[in-house]
Amino acid sequence: MTSTPAPAARLTARGLVRRYGGIEAVAGVDLVAPAGRITALIGPNGAGKSTLFDCLAGTARPDAGRVLLGGRDVTGVPAHRRVRLGLARTFQQIAVFPTLSVADNVRVGAEQRGGRTDARAAAGRTDRALGLLGLRGIAAESAGAQPTGVLRLVELARALAGGPRVLLLDEPAAGLDAVQTARLVTVLRDLAGRGMALLLVEHDAELVAELADSVYAMAAGRVVAAGPTAAVLADPRVAGAWGSST
Ligand code: ATP
Repeated sequence: MTSTPAPAARLTARGLVRRYGGIEAVAGVDLVAPAGRITALIGPNGAGKSTLFDCLAGTARPDAGRVLLGGRDVTGVPAHRRVRLGLARTFQQIAVFPTLSVADNVRVGAEQRGGRTDARAAAGRTDRALGLLGLRGIAAESAGAQPTGVLRLVELARALAGGPRVLLLDEPAAGLDAVQTARLVTVLRDLAGRGMALLLVEHDAELVAELADSVYAMAAGRVVAAGPTAAVLADPRVAGAWGSST
């Protein structure tokens, strides 16, 4: 994605716990998202997937446990600094700036990389991210005028423009049409092929089967099954939790 790719890194969760009142939304989760692999996180509504993502990204502080980015313990590092360390994220609720152009939304991500970023380098990363996601043709258009599927790609482009080593994706295919989904699959595989660690929350079982190298299945705050995708998706506990979608 960038001319000087960041060194690969894995993302690791060890014994993560996050409570809300009396509820353990995340109740002791161990997880590894290795470099160069696509890892999926699945489970029914309320399983704790988003809360786990918040702990990994730094928008929620775990009550116990650790988060490691590469070899570094980032448990106490705030979200914006994790971004600078190479941890990017997209959200379930799309969060673009509607009054900015598509390109300016992506540029925000390029500039969040921090440190030595100069305007020309940021412009280059912005342009490459737009190209990767097929957005150059609408770069100058207002983001607020775009349909949901396009905005998901804009969000992804924004995350990629920062040159992350680890990418967290919360339901990246929600609202995408078939063509956009196919592009997403190609792009995510390509990123993993270049050494990025990808961790995605996804409800679409077909997409998980097609895309993920391994799967963690959560229920009630815990990992109930983990391993190679086909094995986890065939696990009766997991198939049951996914109901008719499997
Ligand atoms: P979904 O697929 O619906 O997004 P999820 O697997 O992401 O679900 P979470 O959103 O992490 O699950 O929720 C896990 C549990 O924690 C639920 O019982 C939820 O009600 C609770 N919870 C999550 N966030 C909060 C919060 N900010 N305050 C109180 N309870 C919360």
